[in-house]
Amino acid sequence: MSAFPVVLSAPSGVGKTTIARELMARRGDVGYSVSCTTRQPRANEVTDVDYHFLSDEEFVAREGRGEFAESALVHGKRYGTLRSEVQRVLDAGRHVLMDIDVQGARQFIASFPASVLVFVLPPSLDDLVERLRSRNTETDAQLAERLRNSHAELQDVHRYHYIVVNDELGVAVDRVSAIIDAESSKRDRVYALDTQVSQLVQRLEEQIKRYKSPHATS
Ligand code: 5GP
Repeated sequence: MSAFPVVLSAPSGVGKTTIARELMARRGDVGYSVSCTTRQPRANEVTDVDYHFLSDEEFVAREGRGEFAESALVHGKRYGTLRSEVQRVLDAGRHVLMDIDVQGARQFIASFPASVLVFVLPPSLDDLVERLRSRNTETDAQLAERLRNSHAELQDVHRYHYIVVNDELGVAVDRVSAIIDAESSKRDRVYALDTQVSQLVQRLEEQIKRYKSPHATS
């Protein structure tokens, strides 16, 4: 089975990071791509686990060296996915889970066309605003910017392969997990099985010929 990238996008505060964390805890065949960002770490965040926190200069330098599979300005800060990070997880035979915004997803699928894009929706607008407020990590101006960005992100939903509503965490994780399983079984991805099927077809054709010959008239 070949591993593939799974991109999770959602308006800020919908809980995709929690979904990603939960999915990682449940499945050994999924690894996480730690992104780079120039924003400040939040109180509960661990460097190189949640993000690689970079200065603006370092980010731009790495971008210049082509180290990012995608990069974007989100809420005024730089974010990017390292090619090396994605490759490390794929080379270990694990699906690589990414929590990136819609601009990043658009760029990323161009570099990794085998990616599965999943958009996570809030159960309602009230729920979205409430989740952002209760996080208590943003000023009013930042909150307003995140809401404006959410509006813009929702315009991009049609680019995604799947939509998952995060009405209940466990159920949302079940859904993303089911998507990974279904995608793993897609014929296009199962190259080994394809070979097996074509060998089977070939052997069947030989059998058909063999059984046909005693009845052949000429
Ligand atoms: P936060 O700062 O709240 O962790 O993330 C803000 C937004 O940046 C979220 O929508 C998140 O998905 C997005 N983001 C996180 N990492 C990346 C990345 O590597 N690339 C892009 N394009 N967006 C990212």
